Amino acid sequence: MTGKFYDVIIMGAGPAGLQAAIHAARRKASVLVIGQSKKSSAYNAHIENFCCTATQSGAEMLEIGIAKAEESGAEFLDTEVMALNADNGHYTVETARGEALKAYALIFAMGISRNKLNLAGEKDLVGRGVSYCVDCDGPLFKKEPVAVVGCGSAAAGAALTMLFYANEVHLVCEKLDMDSFLAEKIRESGVVVHEGRKITQIKGDDAVSGLVLDDGEELAVTGVFIELGAKGAIDFAARLGILLDDTMKYIAVNKKQETNLTGIYAAGDICGPPWQVAKSVGEGCVAGIEAAAYAIKRKQEGR
Ligand SMILES: Cc1cc2nc3c(=O)[nH]c(=O)nc-3n(C[C@H](O)[C@H](O)[C@H](O)COP(=O)(O)OP(=O)(O)OC[C@H]3O[C@@H](n4cnc5c(N)ncnc54)[C@H](O)[C@@H]3O)c2cc1C
Repeated sequence: MTGKFYDVIIMGAGPAGLQAAIHAARRKASVLVIGQSKKSSAYNAHIENFCCTATQSGAEMLEIGIAKAEESGAEFLDTEVMALNADNGHYTVETARGEALKAYALIFAMGISRNKLNLAGEKDLVGRGVSYCVDCDGPLFKKEPVAVVGCGSAAAGAALTMLFYANEVHLVCEKLDMDSFLAEKIRESGVVVHEGRKITQIKGDDAVSGLVLDDGEELAVTGVFIELGAKGAIDFAARLGILLDDTMKYIAVNKKQETNLTGIYAAGDICGPPWQVAKSVGEGCVAGIEAAAYAIKRKQEGR
């Protein structure tokens, strides 16, 4: 496979990459998807708010997506991208397995890695009280007591949203760091703010039963929403000279999902919040169509 030339190489096998692959391949572009669906944020998720699949299992949804992309003609490589280079108007993608593959167009669909509290038990309780997404899991905590952890606007928004569902909302934060309008709104709302506090323990064996703060206070909550932001796979992007958005955390794209570099597109969580399947597949669709059109034009021009 080394040296093989594709019209479009898609980096990421989550919802954004799979939808991009389906649309690009159906436009008769040769398409390679590099990535591991097991590493998609959606893989272990229980997805209730996406309009268009019968299943709520993220793993099953991805399996369906891979089958559709393969039926459409896309090829898959179950590995990681290690390096990217621009040469003479095309791009070379080096993988962890040592392949060096070329393409006219690239789509960045590598998702994000959510920042963790890194407390004992946090990982094991994900989906059993610990969540990184109020839009996804908020409705599961109707009339339950919950805590949101974080100091920024996302944490404030999450806490205000949870007031619609939960019967008690705590916001645990070392120092509120959000615009004054939002800080005022939080103070006027029914959210109980624990400013200057840190969480030292998440309690619970099979499901979250409470939190311990650094002054020893215990909060009897059944849900903990961790809103500490996320890291994008932006190192590769930055090394190639791709511009980031104003937050300097996500890839900046226009309405065609184009980055500032010709032939490079991005879609999904890597372009910023809301981190949702619906947004990822929408952006993936646009990126796939645009990347295929660009690559096919380049090929026809013989460049
Ligand atoms: C616990 C949880 C629950 C969620 N619940 C919901 C929900 O109910 N509803 C909802 O809409 N959304 C939910 N989400 C969010 C949803 O999963 C994401 O928005 C969605 O998966 C983003 O799709 P993506 O394709 O952009 O990235 P991802 O799905 O994260 O896929 C990223 C892909 O990039 C690949 N990759 C990363 N680095 C490299 C590299 N160097 N080389 C090659 N490939 C690479 C990975 O292997 C992976 O295949 C949830 C997320 C979590 C964590």
